[in-house]
Amino acid sequence: MRTIVWEKDEGMKLTPKAKKIWESIPADQRLKILNNVWCVNCMKTTSMGKAEGKVDGGMLSLTGICTRCGGVVARVVE
Ligand SMILES: [Zn+2]
Repeated sequence: MRTIVWEKDEGMKLTPKAKKIWESIPADQRLKILNNVWCVNCMKTTSMGKAEGKVDGGMLSLTGICTRCGGVVARVVE
């Protein structure tokens, strides 16, 4: 029962720094990141909706909502 699966990573909100890092990641890897996020509410891997990215301590940090339950999900890209 997956509601949304990213097919392309358009519509993300990224700070300029975050965008630079994000765009250095291969496109297929970026989709894997967006479609492979752990949700503590669902106790499952889910997709991240309304993704926003910023750089935090040199690492790209993504936050968004779980596309199953609407809860907040976050993930750091190393
Ligand atoms: Zn969830």
